[in-house]
Amino acid sequence: MTATATFRFYAELNDFLAPERRGREFTCPCARAATTKHMIEALGVPHTEVEFVLVNGESVGFERALGDGDRVAVYPKCEMLDVTPLLRIRDRALRETRFIADAHLGGLAHLLRMTGFDTLYDNHFGDDEIERLAASQGRIVLTRDRDLLKRSAITHGCYVRALRSELQLREVFDRLDLARSAQPFTRCLSCNTPLRAIDKMQIAARLPPGVRQRYERFAVCDGCQRVFWEGTHWQRMRRLVDSLIMVGPSTHGTDGAGSHAVGR
Ligand SMILES: [Zn+2]
Repeated sequence: MTATATFRFYAELNDFLAPERRGREFTCPCARAATTKHMIEALGVPHTEVEFVLVNGESVGFERALGDGDRVAVYPKCEMLDVTPLLRIRDRALRETRFIADAHLGGLAHLLRMTGFDTLYDNHFGDDEIERLAASQGRIVLTRDRDLLKRSAITHGCYVRALRSELQLREVFDRLDLARSAQPFTRCLSCNTPLRAIDKMQIAARLPPGVRQRYERFAVCDGCQRVFWEGTHWQRMRRLVDSLIMVGPSTHGTDGAGSHAVGR
């Protein structure tokens, strides 16, 4: 007894497929109890080249058994991000580095999220709340308020000297040696939730027509439901991130704010 599933492979994974299956959806019979890994490799794609798999829009592991009518989207490493120079950081063990930014550092919080760091920020947080959250969640406090950093329950903090957000980001990166553990464009800039890649077909109805025509790769935030794509703002931020992770001072920059996103 077999099931029939629909597959779509993205970017360079298509190189492994038979020509008639490249860059398009296709259906394929699956053996009973075949797993995603089994089918992906049966279609010619080595599992080591695959970063993540969505079945019916949900991220799954290689052991997921496929059923009749399943829709399978298969993405290569960094497909969503397309930041090849960053591949070298992926295999390093990551220290858990989490932040909480005070009310005056919204721009910095935004940029830290852009580089993948879990950063709490709410301009209504008072000092007591920041102290409590930092202590209970093991977060590094970012502030330009020295008195806040003197509070006893705050064990880790970083006094930020620079005034512009992109320079603040560089300062924090340098001080805490963050470049190796950055994971750019993996976290929602608005609400701090990790992003997940989503098949264009699943969100096509929510996109402005011009975006639908011009872009193929999308990520969605399950927290605020925003959809992100690699528009001009993304490209500008990409240059900033590249300048931080490569050596040398940046000649590019942004004061953060804004994102190419649409609401629900
Ligand atoms: Zn969000």
